[in-house]
Amino acid sequence: MKIHEYQAKSILKSFGIPIQDGHVIESLDDAVSTLDRVYQEFNTQQVVIKAQIHAGGRGKGGGVKFSPTREKALENINNILGMQLITHQTGPEGQKVNKVMIAQALDIKKEFYVAITLDRAVGKNVIMVSTEGGVEIEEVAAHSPEKIIRVWVEPGFGLRPFQARELALALGLEGDLFKQGVSLFTKLYSCYIKTDAAIAEINPLVVTDQGQLVALDGKFNFDTNALDRHKDIVEMRDINEEDPTEVEAGEFKLNYIKLDGNVGCMVNGAGLAMATMDIIKLKGGQPANFLDVGGGANVDTVKNGFRIILSDPNVKAVLINIFGGIVRCDRVANGIIQAVSELGLTVPVVVRLEGTNAQMAKDLLDNSGVSIISAGSLSDAAEKVVNAALKG
Ligand code: GDP
Ligand code: MN
Repeated sequence: MKIHEYQAKSILKSFGIPIQDGHVIESLDDAVSTLDRVYQEFNTQQVVIKAQIHAGGRGKGGGVKFSPTREKALENINNILGMQLITHQTGPEGQKVNKVMIAQALDIKKEFYVAITLDRAVGKNVIMVSTEGGVEIEEVAAHSPEKIIRVWVEPGFGLRPFQARELALALGLEGDLFKQGVSLFTKLYSCYIKTDAAIAEINPLVVTDQGQLVALDGKFNFDTNALDRHKDIVEMRDINEEDPTEVEAGEFKLNYIKLDGNVGCMVNGAGLAMATMDIIKLKGGQPANFLDVGGGANVDTVKNGFRIILSDPNVKAVLINIFGGIVRCDRVANGIIQAVSELGLTVPVVVRLEGTNAQMAKDLLDNSGVSIISAGSLSDAAEKVVNAALKG
């Protein structure tokens, strides 16, 4: 689960990390009063107007504007609030800006990159820092990866003081800034662990003209499996920022991720769903989605699954691949037959059921009178659905 910059900063602040602070507005009516509040509270006449959307790259897309005067600030708020902001992370349609942060402007000397995430390859959290912070970290990763320094944390020990010092040294920090760096890395690691974050990123972490280390931006992604123990974080969820189909699927307790292809997939179990997508590609097709319907594939699950899959206009054929272990294949088959006839589907549907009562299920499908292409092996199913999509 992702959150906005201003929410990320409030979490960083609660862990004692210095941030570029400010206030958020959702309506132009609050622009003048909130601007005054920021001027007063932070004792400055210069602010930065920052679009709050979940995607990064806002600066380059025109969603972050330095505003040295009151007129400029109001003009920028006017332009940014409500705009359709396009960045390299939003896709060409962009994302509507419903919230704007009015932040204190800082004079910055240096911009660093800092992030923590899980390195799955080694099974440890990794802290990454770079002196090349700011808006081009993807470029740095692609063209000069040696400029990103990594420190891996032993799960049993946590971040050790010498490691925090190593990170501060890697950024070339000296004197008081070195101390600030050590303290910041320690706090950020603790924040990452305690919030069950999957990613905690500060880009840029800046050195101000006054010699302070400050988080100018903040980004978190939280492990959704841990959200039950973070009610305060769950409250930060903004579904306006999420893919509407994925939100709807979540309400049906379906695990759905939209992709770019034209073969819809309805599968039970994440592993089988991955294997199904792989074999579709192997047979020359492109999956339109990942969809794990979970353990109990009944009529409602299948119907909801179809609704979600077919809300994507690119889908030209659907493959249902269900392993009947606990759930019996004949029950799933009945569910599919009912769902297909009730929904009056027009796209071809290929069905492969394997496991308990598989033969009974195949007979049911073959004799049902509804137009379903039944398949035997996974390879057979993938071939059939890819062909059906080509014709469709
Ligand atoms: P992003 O583009 O979505 O990552 O948004 P950021 O919050 O990281 O802002 C983008 C860039 O705007 C930063 O890398 C800074 O260079 C610049 N910026 C933002 N706030 C300030 C500020 O207070 N002072 C200065 N000088 N630059 C700022
Ligand atoms: Mn940034």
